[in-house]
Amino acid sequence: MAQKKENLEKKLSLNRENGWNRVSEKEKKEIHEFAKEYRQFLNTVKTEREAVSYFVDRAEKIGFKDLHTVKSIEPGSRLYITKNHKVAAFIVIGKKPLLEGIRYVVSHIDSPRLDLKPNPLIEDSESSTALLKTHYYGGIKKYQWVSRPLAIHGTVVTKEGKKIDLKIGESEEDPVFVIPDIEPHLARKVQGEKKLFEGFEGEDLQILVSSVPINDEEIKAKVKTAVLNNLFERYGIMEQDFQSADIEIVPADKARDVGLDNSMVGAYGQDDRICAYTSFQTIIDLKVPEYTSIIIVYDKEEIGSAGSSGARSNFIDYVTTTLLGKALKEYTYGDFVSMMHNSKAISADVNAALNPLYKQVQDLANAAKVGYGTIITKYTGSGGKYNSSEATAEYLAYLRNLFDSKGVIYQSGLLGKVDEGGGGTIAQDFAKYGMDVIDMGPGLLSMHSPFELVSKLDLWSTYRAFKTFLL
Ligand code: MN
Ligand code: MN
Repeated sequence: MAQKKENLEKKLSLNRENGWNRVSEKEKKEIHEFAKEYRQFLNTVKTEREAVSYFVDRAEKIGFKDLHTVKSIEPGSRLYITKNHKVAAFIVIGKKPLLEGIRYVVSHIDSPRLDLKPNPLIEDSESSTALLKTHYYGGIKKYQWVSRPLAIHGTVVTKEGKKIDLKIGESEEDPVFVIPDIEPHLARKVQGEKKLFEGFEGEDLQILVSSVPINDEEIKAKVKTAVLNNLFERYGIMEQDFQSADIEIVPADKARDVGLDNSMVGAYGQDDRICAYTSFQTIIDLKVPEYTSIIIVYDKEEIGSAGSSGARSNFIDYVTTTLLGKALKEYTYGDFVSMMHNSKAISADVNAALNPLYKQVQDLANAAKVGYGTIITKYTGSGGKYNSSEATAEYLAYLRNLFDSKGVIYQSGLLGKVDEGGGGTIAQDFAKYGMDVIDMGPGLLSMHSPFELVSKLDLWSTYRAFKTFLL
């Protein structure tokens, strides 16, 4: 009898298979369940402040303690630290001594949006309307933000230190806000003769906030004064209080299932709260891991990670030296440095999945696909790998082995063709400590838009990858 011929292609080549064909019916149920809770999270949390308070609330309920309030730590201790209400670290102490290294999963909780300027409120007397002036934050395509319902989220701090939280436009009864676009009938010159990215300019991003004047002949700015009166009566806020406020304008829409097969989630702010959420869901499940596990959810990534709550700050030093201080009677600077060198990190961030309408920007052999699992990105950067912290071959081999042994569905992917564009992540802010670090996360479609898309399978496999890494 002739022996069955071995299929060399199957044996030797990379077999890229759709993740949905690799999971059981039971796992499919789990995936949809996981996505349902994720959608609720996205509806609750639309700013970095809201993310920090959401995570801290949940963590405290299950026994995480503010690191500053504990006297000593031991394996299994669950701790957290925050700064400026905008960055937070969650920690579970492992079996091995801290100096043998830490496992980090680090992500960011800020998303592209429109911020109010410090003097935002103006009256346009010709149109008898009041508007709020904004300054966009992060890489947005400005035309995507017009003629769609927007919500106001933020915190005002009065001179006396009183904090007033605002959230208008999320409940069914709330009004929403809008940047009114011009109708096609009259757009031929003002927009039609411009390039797509110039059709709407930064100073055009003004939010229509009111149209009813105050009925008082002595007042000049009648609509604006009506707005101020309303704000004062409802919140006790005066115009000058906007100078000490963090107010963000975000899409008012809710997260939805997308597709006839309900296979995707569409929502604002998935870059990168999807990685913050999946890493948080991981750390709260840890009992006593081998190595101490820390997840950090950073602010400011979308504008270059500068600032005291960004990944380029020394928040990580603050977290780890505070930990060392609680764990050891004394330690040297050298101990801290070698602990960091002994550590491993996942820089958890989204990547671009292959968009069926714009395949020309991707190298098909190296582009990540929707539904093929979380993406391992060896390097990011632009041009000749500029500004990239490339992971070593050894670290990638370690991760492949780890993920394959636990059946984690993953794919390797790059951000676009060579010289097509590019982008960076916070990987380099960890690489500088000498630790191994890799970029990883799900692929999105329409990244940075008000309605980003993710495959539920990629969401779930990202969670499974983090879990496998930290256990
Ligand atoms: Mn990101
Ligand atoms: Mn981004």
